[in-house]
Amino acid sequence: TTADRALLPVVGADTLVPLVDGRQVPYANLDYAASAPALEAVAARVVEVLPLYASVHRGAGYLSQLSTALYESARATVARFAGARDDDVAVITRNTTDALNLLAGCVPDGGRVLVLDIEHHANLLPWVRSVRGSGRTATVVPAAPTVAGTLTALRDELARQPYALVTLTGASNVTGEALPITSVVALAQEAGARVAVDGAQLLPHRAFSLADSGVDYVAFSGHKTYAPFGAGALVGRRDWLDAGTPYLAGGGAVRDVRTDRALWQPAPARHEGGSPNVLGAVALAQACDTLAALPTGALAAHEDALRTRLLDGLADIPGVRVLRLWSDSADPVGVVSFTVGEHDSGLVAAYLSAEHGIGVRDGRFCAHPLLARVGVPGGAIRASVGVGTTTEAVDRLVAGLRAYVTDGPRAAYEVVDGCWAV
Ligand code: PMP
Repeated sequence: TTADRALLPVVGADTLVPLVDGRQVPYANLDYAASAPALEAVAARVVEVLPLYASVHRGAGYLSQLSTALYESARATVARFAGARDDDVAVITRNTTDALNLLAGCVPDGGRVLVLDIEHHANLLPWVRSVRGSGRTATVVPAAPTVAGTLTALRDELARQPYALVTLTGASNVTGEALPITSVVALAQEAGARVAVDGAQLLPHRAFSLADSGVDYVAFSGHKTYAPFGAGALVGRRDWLDAGTPYLAGGGAVRDVRTDRALWQPAPARHEGGSPNVLGAVALAQACDTLAALPTGALAAHEDALRTRLLDGLADIPGVRVLRLWSDSADPVGVVSFTVGEHDSGLVAAYLSAEHGIGVRDGRFCAHPLLARVGVPGGAIRASVGVGTTTEAVDRLVAGLRAYVTDGPRAAYEVVDGCWAV
């Protein structure tokens, strides 16, 4: 695979952006890990369904019934995409952050949660924030410099005290690396704990199955999975979700209400109070179906080709350091973070945008403890790829960085409101 062409068509791929010298160039989008562009198939589906939606779950009219059917069928598609078991439940959420906060309210009272220090804040803060009165607590274990050492650290902690849940990233949003999930599942099961996976950076990039992996819960986001903003999912074991704290109290989440008490629905309705995001769920489901229809291995091959090309290009640029969590990790997804000598990452990112029309992300990527762990507490630059990325974008990034280290920026940059700007 050369990745000379997009693997799937995405909308906006030929958008022109202005450069500081007045030219317009096609946008080189290397920021898929933050939010990926919508697939053309998703955009077409949204246009198709937009005229059809009406109130969901409550209306008697034809379009209300159609909307309800669309919404529930989207839920089933999302569950299938996550490889759900027959008795698993899929809750439609706003995004991964929403899904993990929801799950945090469903861990049985008194349950302990084990988490590593390399997580995105969305898979750290919901657990370390104490849930008042529930007795739930979290232990944050520092990752070791190797995968093997990190698994040992998890095993040791699981042996020290009982845990209800181990929660880990399916792929790091900074380095693209992950622990082997099946090894973590084996350790957790031996200790009687469940496993949750933050799939925000995994499900857009690799096939995943709850049933095959033995993982109990997975969370992911539509806007990173080639659907527009606003919908995500939490999929997994029914019992905790049926019994957990209703995530959004309101209409639709209850069976019967008196002024002094409410009889809550089981999941998923229990956690979906208020009018649901039908269009978002339909878009997410279309993205799931389109990704699932790709030939086995095609997604990984496309991303690997781009990632390898990027790493080869970066290796030739003096001063570039690619961030790695572990010396023995295998098959990272298409997310690469790096620093350029002592150069300010925000300045380099602003230069790439203003002088080359390249979109990357810079900063600390909502993973401050991870950045501290890999020794760049001040931040880095992240390039990430996906189905719409081609070698051309990667080559432009490498050329842009080379021009930066040899010639430096041509325009004058300054910090405005905490951000670098021309
Ligand atoms: N986890 C990971 C690994 C992520 O990359 C992100 C998004 N950067 C999140 C969680 C949070 O996703 P969202 O902003 O869609 O809730």
